[in-house]
Amino acid sequence: MPEAVPSSDLVAELKDFVATVVEPAERRYQREATELGGRSTPPVMADLQREAQRRGLWNLCLSDPEWGRGLTNSSYAPLAEITGRCAPAAEATNGAGPDSVNMETLLRVGTEEQKEWWLRPLAEGTCRSCFAMTEPGVASSDARNVAARITRSGHGYVVDGHKWWISGAANDRCRFAIVMGVSDAEAAPGRRHSMVVVPMDAPGVRVVRQLPVFGFLTGGHAELEFEGVQVPADSLLGEEGDGFAIAQLRLGPARIQHCMRLVGMAERALELLCARAAVRTTFGQPLVDRGVIRDWIAESRIAIHQARLLVLDAAAAVDRSGARSARDEIAMIKVAVPRMACEVVERAIQVHGGAGVGDDTPLAAMYASARTLRIADGPDEVHKMVLARSELGRQTRRDVR
Ligand SMILES: Cc1cc2nc3c(=O)[nH]c(=O)nc-3n(C[C@H](O)[C@H](O)[C@H](O)COP(=O)(O)OP(=O)(O)OC[C@H]3O[C@@H](n4cnc5c(N)ncnc54)[C@H](O)[C@@H]3O)c2cc1C
Repeated sequence: MPEAVPSSDLVAELKDFVATVVEPAERRYQREATELGGRSTPPVMADLQREAQRRGLWNLCLSDPEWGRGLTNSSYAPLAEITGRCAPAAEATNGAGPDSVNMETLLRVGTEEQKEWWLRPLAEGTCRSCFAMTEPGVASSDARNVAARITRSGHGYVVDGHKWWISGAANDRCRFAIVMGVSDAEAAPGRRHSMVVVPMDAPGVRVVRQLPVFGFLTGGHAELEFEGVQVPADSLLGEEGDGFAIAQLRLGPARIQHCMRLVGMAERALELLCARAAVRTTFGQPLVDRGVIRDWIAESRIAIHQARLLVLDAAAAVDRSGARSARDEIAMIKVAVPRMACEVVERAIQVHGGAGVGDDTPLAAMYASARTLRIADGPDEVHKMVLARSELGRQTRRDVR
C-alpha cells in the first residue's frame, strides 16, 4: 500500500539536502546550463544526483514501492513543494518533468519489457525522455486536433508528424519520446489517438531547433520532425486508441507535481522579498516598514497558503477516486497556482528593483518558469472552460430536480 504521509525524517532530510546542497550549487548550475545552452546536462547535476542517492532521496515521485518510495499523490506533494524552492532540486532527486510523469506512465501502462527497456534507465538516471503531443500546425490546447500519424505497417508502426515545445528533447541525454498521434482517423473521437515510444536516435527523427523561453534555453524545449520513423509493434503503449486515456492518466500526477513545485517556488520568492525589503532604505525608511510592501507580504502569504491547500485537496481527490473524477479539482489548481506564483514572484522582483530582473537572484528564471505554466499543460482558458461546463452541468441538474 502506498504511504499516506511522508515521514517527518524524509521531509527533514529533503529540506536539508535542498538547503545545504542544492541551493549553494544553484548559481553554478545556472552558469553551466547557460554555457551549455540547454543541450547538455550541467556537470554539477551528477554531483547533486550522487548525493541525493546517497541520502535515499531518489525517485521519491514513483508511486510503486518496487521502483520508488511508494508515496501517494498526497504524500509526495509536500516533498514536491520542497524541490520547487530551487530549480535543480527536482532533477537532482530524479523527480523533474517530463521524466517523472513518463516514468509513472510506463509504470501504469507499460508491459514488463517496456519497463525494462524504457523505465529502468530513466529510474536509474542514466538517460532522459520527452513527451511529444503539441504541434505547430494545429491548436493543440484541443488535443483532438493532434494530427501526427501512427500507421500500422508490417510488424510495427510508422510515425510521421511535426511537434514543438517538446521539453527536454534538445538535451543530448534524451533517449526516447512518448509520441501521441492518430492511429485510426475513422474511430470515435476519443479513440483516434495512440501513444508510441520512439527512440530519439531512430532514423527519421530530427531535432529541428531549440526553443528559448523568454530567452532562457535551460528547459531543452525543441521542435521535432518525425518522417517515416519505423518502430516495432511493442512500442505501442496500451492498446491502439488508448492515447486519450493515457493522456488523462498523466494529468493528475503531472499537474499536482507542477503546482506543488510552484508553491515551493513562491515560498522562496516571498523569503527573498522579505530579506531584500529588510535591508533597503528609501526616503529615510526601510522598505519593510512601508505599508505597500507589508500589504504585498500579507497578500503573498494568504495566496500561498490558499494555493497549498487547494493542491493538497486536489491530490487527495486524485488518490481517492482517480484523475478523471478529480478533473475539476485539477483544473482549479492548474489555473490558480501558476497565477499565484506569477503574482508573488512579480512582487519579489519589484522589491528588488533592477536586481530583480538580472541573474544575481533566481527571480527572473522563476518568473519565466511560472508564466509558461499558464500555457503549458493546457492554457488557463481551457481549464476554466472545463470548470464552467462542469459547474453549469451541476446547476442544470439541480434546476431539473
Ligand atoms: C515551456 C513550455 C513547455 C511545454 N512542454 C511541452 C511538452 O513537453 N510536450 C508537449 O506536447 N507540449 C508542451 N508544451 C506545449 C503546451 O502544452 C501547449 O503550448 C498548450 O497546450 C497550448 O497549445 P498551443 O500552443 O497550440 O496553443 P493554442 O491551442 O493555439 O491556443 C492558443 C490560446 O488560445 C486560447 N484558447 C484556447 N482554447 C480556448 C478556449 N476554449 N476558450 C478561450 N480561449 C482559448 C488560450 O489563451 C491559448 O493560450 C509546452 C509549452 C511551453 C510554453
